[in-house]
Amino acid sequence: MKTGPGTEAKTAATGGSRIGFEDVSVTYGNLTVLHSLTLTVNPGEVVALIGPSGSGKTTALRAVAGFVRPSSGRIMIGERNVTHLAPYDRKIGMVVQNYALFPHMRVDENVAFGLRAHGAREDVIRQRVPECLAMVGMSAYARRFPRELSGGQQQRVAIARALAPRPQVLLLDEPLSALDAQIRRAMIDEIAKLHTSLPNLTVLYVTHDQSEALTLANHIGIMRDGKLRAFGTSQSLFRNPPNRFAAEFLGRAN
Ligand code: ADP
Repeated sequence: MKTGPGTEAKTAATGGSRIGFEDVSVTYGNLTVLHSLTLTVNPGEVVALIGPSGSGKTTALRAVAGFVRPSSGRIMIGERNVTHLAPYDRKIGMVVQNYALFPHMRVDENVAFGLRAHGAREDVIRQRVPECLAMVGMSAYARRFPRELSGGQQQRVAIARALAPRPQVLLLDEPLSALDAQIRRAMIDEIAKLHTSLPNLTVLYVTHDQSEALTLANHIGIMRDGKLRAFGTSQSLFRNPPNRFAAEFLGRAN
């Protein structure tokens, strides 16, 4: 986990799974919204995809999750070609913008649900739920309902639920964009800490917020019109934007 634009990216990691896009295209009807995306997130790394709205960031993430089927190319998780696997079989955790907790279930039941869906035994569930709630600082709220929590708290529970089955890959789609600025800043720090405590977790993070990307990511990909237009450490992208679009997007155009 990197702590600022000046920190060198971490590239080597032990354990964990890489995420690989190999020449992945996605088409809706006649419209190609992802063009031959090739990108690797190394094990234990955080890669942020940034870019204007409609540039294909969420589509890329959903292709890894299995909710979108590529028209060509391969999606790899570790050494597995998961292109044709159902979402459930991909062993990933995912958190989306609008938290999507089950409103009729208490916090601990929400986290347990994810584990049960993965076939975990009850004794494992009893141990893992408090452990995951502690990880996101929500132990005191285990018996609350989602409606009794703030937006930031709900999002923490969503992260706990995603992490409970111990996935090696975590996909985050604008996880903080529904939160107000102050809570968002606190949550960025918490996600950074969380990743430090789970060094093997490979994270693909979609955001329109550059500061989130700069704080959290080892590498940043900048997308436009379904194409990856730039990829590198934040430091290298800022110092040496590879093209005018990247420079303009990062606010560095002359
Ligand atoms: P971003 O996350 O960068 O805002 P998206 O991946 O959501 O971009 O969208 C990329 C393009 O794909 C947009 O033009 C969007 O309208 C289109 N798109 C996304 N989902 C669908 C869908 N289910 N059907 C048709 N077009 C879609």
